[in-house]
Amino acid sequence: MFCKNCGQQIDDNATKCDKCGASVAPAAAPAAAPAAGGFSTPSPNGSGVVLNINVGSQEPIAPSGKNTILAVILSCCFPGVGQIYLGQLFKGIAFLILAYILGPVTGGLLAIVAWIVAMLDAFKIGKKLEEGKSVAPWEFF
Ligand SMILES: [Zn+2]
Repeated sequence: MFCKNCGQQIDDNATKCDKCGASVAPAAAPAAAPAAGGFSTPSPNGSGVVLNINVGSQEPIAPSGKNTILAVILSCCFPGVGQIYLGQLFKGIAFLILAYILGPVTGGLLAIVAWIVAMLDAFKIGKKLEEGKSVAPWEFF
């Protein structure tokens, strides 16, 4: 290092200049470099909107305050609609196919079966949801 007083080169560990006698304070540590990124560039926001449509997923249906009686009435009028109302979309569609497509083909037999089963099922599934239980998308009764 160099003496601040006389400018002569002196020992790095010296506390006193051996040329002029001036006390030499150890050089202070260099000031920390300014932290990089003092300002941040606004990055394009991905907005994070993710359409979360679980078509045919096996995600359980959480209780959501649906009305059991309404579900039964809906499935009484249109077998399967009560299930759709409760959140069992694909099961409800299956009931509708059973009642309105396979029903007429079987002389109304499957329509009657679908109608009775859909009503009972809407009641049972609705009660489970009312009790705070989750139901599987294809859970019956
Ligand atoms: Zn000196």
